[in-house]
Amino acid sequence: LLKAGSVESFISEPANSYTAKYLVEYLNRKKSQASPIISHLKQDLADKSLSIRGAREHNLKNIDINIPLDKIVALIGVSGSGKSSIAKDIIYSEGQRRYLDCLSPYARQFIKELKKPDIDGIQNLKPTICVYQHTFQPGHLSTVGTMSEAYNFLRLLYSKTADQYCPDHPKEKISALSAEAIRDAVLELSDSQTRILAPIVKLKKGSHRQIFERAVRSEINEVRVDGLFVRPSDFHYDLEKNKVHSIDYVIARFNKDRIDKDMLLDATRQALALGGGTLIVHTKNSEEVLSAERTCPRCNRGFFKPDPEDLSFHSKRGACSRCHGSGLDKKGAPCPSCKGARLNTLGRHLRLADKNIYEASLLGPQDLRDFLQTLSFDSRTSKIAQSIMKELLSKLDILSKMGLDYLNLNRDCQTLSGGELQRLRLAAAMGSPLSGVLYIFDEPSAGLHPIDNLKVLEEIRELKNSGNSVIIIEHDAQSILSSEYVIEVGPGGGTEGGHIVFEGSVEAFKKDLNSISSRAMRESAALPPSRIQSEAPLLSIQNASKNNLKNINLELPLASLVVVAGVSGAGKSSLVHGVISKAIVPGKNKSLDTWEMNGTKLKSSINIDRVLLIDQKPIGLNSRSTPASYLGIWDHMRNVFASTLEAKTRGLSASYFSYNTGKGRCPDCKGLGLQKLEMSFLPDASIICDSCNGQRFTDDALLVKFKDLSVSDVLNLTLEEARALFSHHRKIHHALHNACELGLGYLTLGQSSATLSGGESQRMKLVAELSGSQRGHTLYLLDEPTTGLHKSDVARLIKTLRSLVDHNNSVIIIEHEEDIIRSADHVLELGPGAGDEGGRVIFSGSPKLLQKAKTPWGSLLKSRS
Ligand SMILES: [Zn+2]
Ligand SMILES: [Zn+2]
Ligand SMILES: [Zn+2]
Repeated sequence: LLKAGSVESFISEPANSYTAKYLVEYLNRKKSQASPIISHLKQDLADKSLSIRGAREHNLKNIDINIPLDKIVALIGVSGSGKSSIAKDIIYSEGQRRYLDCLSPYARQFIKELKKPDIDGIQNLKPTICVYQHTFQPGHLSTVGTMSEAYNFLRLLYSKTADQYCPDHPKEKISALSAEAIRDAVLELSDSQTRILAPIVKLKKGSHRQIFERAVRSEINEVRVDGLFVRPSDFHYDLEKNKVHSIDYVIARFNKDRIDKDMLLDATRQALALGGGTLIVHTKNSEEVLSAERTCPRCNRGFFKPDPEDLSFHSKRGACSRCHGSGLDKKGAPCPSCKGARLNTLGRHLRLADKNIYEASLLGPQDLRDFLQTLSFDSRTSKIAQSIMKELLSKLDILSKMGLDYLNLNRDCQTLSGGELQRLRLAAAMGSPLSGVLYIFDEPSAGLHPIDNLKVLEEIRELKNSGNSVIIIEHDAQSILSSEYVIEVGPGGGTEGGHIVFEGSVEAFKKDLNSISSRAMRESAALPPSRIQSEAPLLSIQNASKNNLKNINLELPLASLVVVAGVSGAGKSSLVHGVISKAIVPGKNKSLDTWEMNGTKLKSSINIDRVLLIDQKPIGLNSRSTPASYLGIWDHMRNVFASTLEAKTRGLSASYFSYNTGKGRCPDCKGLGLQKLEMSFLPDASIICDSCNGQRFTDDALLVKFKDLSVSDVLNLTLEEARALFSHHRKIHHALHNACELGLGYLTLGQSSATLSGGESQRMKLVAELSGSQRGHTLYLLDEPTTGLHKSDVARLIKTLRSLVDHNNSVIIIEHEEDIIRSADHVLELGPGAGDEGGRVIFSGSPKLLQKAKTPWGSLLKSRS
């Protein structure tokens, strides 16, 4: 070692170091001409912000944006103002795109094509992790354990350190056996055509070419590939690399009656050495595995070394072959083969202390941590256990901090509420603490009770303190005020947005007079008052016991606006989705007043003609669905075009203007305006159709104009603009008016419905419902309709819900939004806690009375009024 120390000390004594000498020369040469590199570095350190120049993506108006790094920045604005364009389409997508360039084409084909954002430049971009709500939906078989990744580490821990037991003799611990004892067992099993095999590959993907090459080199004359015996030197074709294969080497072939015992011992040793301690005895009629390390002392059956795959219910190798990992039979009862454990016999017989991995995953995060800490390992395994345990405990810890201790790791994610799923997503992103990363969270408060939201905000602060930058896209006042810097995009949505209307500290934001958000937060909007009805019809529910509900009885007023509130996990979804929706929906469209389901009785004092669940699932799953077609106004608009003088003289009917089937649509892109481009390495990309230039229609069709606009121009209008244009067309205007009232005026008529967020889809469904005709008494069930809605639009949403009630319908909403709760006719609060601690009615009455109640929501409302 020649030299070590700081750069200054390094170059101050250049003697006997060539590098130091070179650096001194370099610096002297550079001194005259101020070094651009050094000044750039200095600039970089001084200016710790992510800066975007000339952003024109979507509705952004060629703006410059500076986002301070190492801070929590709230990115706010009304819906459609351009927040997502900045966070998702510029920052995240550019970060991903740069990262993608480093991947192989093979890896890239699995990742969605990312388009280059429309900007002049971006500086100080960090590696970015983005938690978007609708990009992270739980799949089939996903559990709290797999989604949080805690289960992956648990699998690792079990496969490396657990004790193995014989599935046929569950009390017998698998133990070691001497080579002589195995030789004797081989002899016992042999017949006149016996082979001893060394297992080399067991159900692993790949072409495994080197396995064959090694066999040839080691003078192995025979191998078994996926059950077939072949000569390795004859094996000229490659195995399919995307399929799983098993390969064994044949070490010896012999006749039981003609084998020398010493030669058999040699063959046994060789097979055990190659087979990692196991060998297979193959005869005409049977096949047995024997193991030097893992043998049942009772039946001599040998076992392979466990692999994490053996504990994965997502893999063919690990999953119970009867239920394929769901743990349930076709009727939804526990699978008779694995008793709900999801795994095959091998995986179920690995135990740490008294629990197999399934039993361990029936614990919640806190209980599992306690269990793991009681385990003791021998000196051989404790080193391995330690490193796995560290990651596992930190994953479990973050779940606890998010308040999810009441969910066990085996819980199916598809049964979680929006708020639980949201915290799980956040926990998964935060679980392995990184630093120097930019995190983007889309509405982290969505679905959360203010008390739960505080826990999330605490974790976000923790994340920032460990050296990361955070951007939260938010509407929630509590979250905005707890950030350190605010950027508001606006002032309106769509073409009315795309400007930066405020940027600065939270303190400055609170005082800002121009910001719509600041104003909406300061002045509480004029909310439609809740009404007290003395003789409202009632829906009574008896013995509700779904999930954590404690066999409760309750009554809810009908023809009213009812809010079901409570902390996350209190049982709101269980009551509204699991009981009310499930019990009443089967009789939908039939006028009924009593229902029964699994011992729960529901009775209504009036007939309910229809039940409608207005959820956040996407509308119109095909790429041709648009807001115009979904709202049923496009047919009317085509009629308007067909009734113009130009269309009449040319004899063009309304059907001519259909972009789905009409003669007037562009034949090349079939009315989509886009064409698919097939690329050899990358996924298909869409480009603007060059025959119609993205206009969807033929030149002939575009000649027809209504108020100077072609059909294509009209499809490019926002709902707000179209409302003004069609003010004299009653049906069109009515639907568009309702959509604008619900804060959807910034959407364009012709955009694909697939681009709508969950909240936007939900509000579109509400608009379609309002624009339709009345169909008797309808019970509307809504789950958090304020998700993604700006504070200034909440009052309008309440007005809309109120108008449903005014038309003699009933509305039951799950909500955490304070204004909605304050303006409800009736509030039902479940709780007091989550999971087992919840499931009881802790308040039922008017919002006024709620302020006096000693419940989580009661004290919150009191403290804020
Ligand atoms: Zn046994
Ligand atoms: Zn099963
Ligand atoms: Zn075209």
